[in-house]
Amino acid sequence: MPDGRRTRVVILGTGFGGVYTADHLDGRVDPAKVEVILVGRDNFFLMTPLLFEAGSGDLEFRHAVNPVRPLLRHTRFYNATIEHVDLAAKEVHARSAAGDRYSLPYDHLVLAVGQITDKRRIPGAEHALTFKTIVDAITFRNHVIEAFERADAATDPAARARDLTFVVVGGGLVGVELCGEMSEFVDRLLRAYPRITRKEVRVVLLQRGPRLLPELNEKSGRYAEKRLTKSGVTVRTGTGVERIEPDRVHLPGGEEVEAATVILSAGLAPNPLVAGLDLPRTRDRVTTDGCMRVAGHPGVWAIGDCAAIPGPDGQPYPTLAQHALREAKQLAKNIAAVIDGKEPAPFVYQMLGTMAALGHYRGIASVKGITVRGFLAWWAWRTYYLFQTPGLGRKVRILLEWTVALFFRQDVVKIGLSDELGNPTPADGKPGPTKAPGEPTPATR
Ligand SMILES: Cc1cc2nc3c(=O)[nH]c(=O)nc-3n(C[C@H](O)[C@H](O)[C@H](O)COP(=O)(O)OP(=O)(O)OC[C@H]3O[C@@H](n4cnc5c(N)ncnc54)[C@H](O)[C@@H]3O)c2cc1C
Repeated sequence: MPDGRRTRVVILGTGFGGVYTADHLDGRVDPAKVEVILVGRDNFFLMTPLLFEAGSGDLEFRHAVNPVRPLLRHTRFYNATIEHVDLAAKEVHARSAAGDRYSLPYDHLVLAVGQITDKRRIPGAEHALTFKTIVDAITFRNHVIEAFERADAATDPAARARDLTFVVVGGGLVGVELCGEMSEFVDRLLRAYPRITRKEVRVVLLQRGPRLLPELNEKSGRYAEKRLTKSGVTVRTGTGVERIEPDRVHLPGGEEVEAATVILSAGLAPNPLVAGLDLPRTRDRVTTDGCMRVAGHPGVWAIGDCAAIPGPDGQPYPTLAQHALREAKQLAKNIAAVIDGKEPAPFVYQMLGTMAALGHYRGIASVKGITVRGFLAWWAWRTYYLFQTPGLGRKVRILLEWTVALFFRQDVVKIGLSDELGNPTPADGKPGPTKAPGEPTPATR
């Protein structure tokens, strides 16, 4: 115990890495000797593999996330945005949504703040939607339904075509799964918009590389392309995006695709918090040793997407939830060991495989060298992530919702967050023009 007080472990981020590190530490250290603190801007953690279904409405948004507090017994939780880490003073500075400031000294610090969507590579990327958080899924759903509403009312054929064109940039796991879910979502939406035909709706997937799913083998990439094409997605490999403008994507050779919806899923960039720290880095991630310690900063550890943790071959582990979860367990052991004056052990994990859902009850799974495709792979995907979801109550809710979705029509409700006069509210998250009672709603496009 430093100076007779409890040893303080401060964990930053409520994703897979942060929450599971806190959970494992919670049961491992003596709360009378060690104080564990978790800080995150969300008081839940997101099951990212379920984000696609939350976006399409197959799953209620709340059921794709898990509240943090019931998972933690002794851990103190601060619901706040981390603004700065003072590595010299060993102190974290955070601020709540209401503006309350917290200064949290630490003996051990765990960086688990993940990464953000990379908007550096494509000029104009700020005009595209992203698909990484629960707010992204809500925005995506509202945006697609709004595009259908506009197209239904449009009198100009060019505007109608633009509203009904959806472009996804990036053909990795997230882009491919999003397109699969999107094609299914669109098919279901069409039942509520009888004046719009399937032929009018275009879902376009643009992939700079020569094939889809570079995370899986070539055969899987080809299968994904075939399935998506069959579902009505236009797949274009070897097609990099040069520039994005509002309602337009510029391709090489002067080609343009007019689209009211562009979603960016082409790589990750460092979290700004981590980018602002003077720490060693490997390809935008904080460099650690095999035990997840940051060199030159005793007591500082990094985990999950924001960390480059070398495996036995020296290569950093991939940025996947299946790794972050397991790293968390080893990290909790390591922190507990160091507090007890023992040596930490390296994280070693042999990846089991990768799975992806492709929409319309089809999927692809590559597990221990065996590749399964079609319905069986989709079923395995769903079952696996259902079991990965913590808590029996959540599992049952998800199962019920999936069952209901099989038999009933998808609803086309777009929940905006404006007030009774149509003005954006603080919950809307974006400033907007205000209007007086009786005034028409200001045009947004
Ligand atoms: C749509 C999607 C689908 C995916 N599907 C799969 C899959 O099927 N299988 C798989 O293995 N992986 C999947 N992944 C990858 C997986 O989600 C990540 O590898 C995993 O989430 C990494 O966990 P993490 O804890 O490192 O970071 P994150 O889960 O990103 O968590 C970081 C946390 O830190 C918080 N945070 C960041 N900055 C601050 C700040 N300044 N203040 C306060 N809080 C902050 C964030 O709000 C977030 O809660 C998917 C990712 C996406 C986006």
